[in-house]
Amino acid sequence: MSDKKNYGFTTTILHNDRRKGIEHGSLHKPVHTSVTFGYDDARQLAAVFQGKEPGFRYGRQGNPTISALEDKITRMEDGVGTLCFATGMGAIGALFQALLRAGDHVVSSSFLFGNTNSLWQTTAGQGIAVDFVDATDVANVEAALTPATRIVFVETIANPRTQVADLARIGKLCAQRGILYVVDNTMTTPYLFRPKSVGAGLVVNSLTKSIGGHGNALGGSLTDTGAYDWSNYPHIAANYKRAAPAQWGLAQLRAKALRDFGASLGPEAAHHIAVGAETLALRMERTCANALALARMLEADERVAAVHYPGLASHPQHAIATELFKSYGSLFSFELKDGIDCFDYLNRLTIAVSASNLGDTRTLVIPVSHTIFFEMGAERRASMGIAESLIRVSVGIEDTADLLADFRGAL
Ligand SMILES: *Cc1c(COP(=O)(O)O)cnc(C)c1O
Repeated sequence: MSDKKNYGFTTTILHNDRRKGIEHGSLHKPVHTSVTFGYDDARQLAAVFQGKEPGFRYGRQGNPTISALEDKITRMEDGVGTLCFATGMGAIGALFQALLRAGDHVVSSSFLFGNTNSLWQTTAGQGIAVDFVDATDVANVEAALTPATRIVFVETIANPRTQVADLARIGKLCAQRGILYVVDNTMTTPYLFRPKSVGAGLVVNSLTKSIGGHGNALGGSLTDTGAYDWSNYPHIAANYKRAAPAQWGLAQLRAKALRDFGASLGPEAAHHIAVGAETLALRMERTCANALALARMLEADERVAAVHYPGLASHPQHAIATELFKSYGSLFSFELKDGIDCFDYLNRLTIAVSASNLGDTRTLVIPVSHTIFFEMGAERRASMGIAESLIRVSVGIEDTADLLADFRGAL
């Protein structure tokens, strides 16, 4: 396949492995299970260790199957390089492990995936100050910046309340101040949105969700978009500054996070994720259409108190979402009117499954305050706009009419 032609999203993913030639003409990059890689010439092994020659050495730092997936994600995000991790949290934790030190400051959106919220509480206890702000308005981010701010962290569409960060204006602000801008793109995926377009330096994807798409493998990734000038970052060790500055961030992340902490993606999981990614665009078209149909139906029902979905005209960031994203995502949340028990409602659904994953091919539902956001307590939930009766829906690829009937029937 030619490297020069400007192929579309799906064509590029489907044929990407062949660009570099696959063993024996295989159409899938094979699953390499070998933990280590042998060399006939010991000098070559040394050259690989010293970074003077490309090559694999030990599975924790990389493997041909993982590399093929990393390359695919780099192409999806239009970046310069990607590192895969065992989970999405492994990828987010790597920021803390490789890039932050005691005395540093992070500004994070307060509308966050629950475990990321928990991680920032942990780092705060280790000398890294984290300020949570309402990132739907860049003014709140700007007001929180200090001379020690190293990272601004936001999600595109927040899970579960679907607030959309002021993505483009925050990107401009970070560029002006030379601050690393990290965007978690899990909810939009590179098919709906490329954070590079708003100046993000690093992009997080939980591959467990829509990219893998079938709920059969955990994984996470960090992609360097090339937008951040690493020569501005104060904590890059001399060891990782041998190549051009564009390589510094991933070099340090690979060594200080992946190698030293060891949250490496397994080759079998990488294979499942790579196969799932082939149909990302098709699945997103279907799940976004299903989500919009369900959100519209529920919003029109008098027994429903509120529906949160960026595709609805009533959503506070509907205009920004329309401007930035190809569509509005697979996830929405809603609140039932007082008197309707959310557990009774969920138990009456016959297609949607009560479960905690999202981005699966199957529709999954969960009572947020009683499960994924239980540990943080009522006060923090209220500050994040999470009602006690909030139900999160991760919409699958089922037939639209079946889903509409299921959600209407359960009311
Ligand atoms: C699920 C999720 C993560 C964490 O990913 P895991 O693969 O479950 O570790 C991070 N960010 C967002 C927005 C998520 O939905």
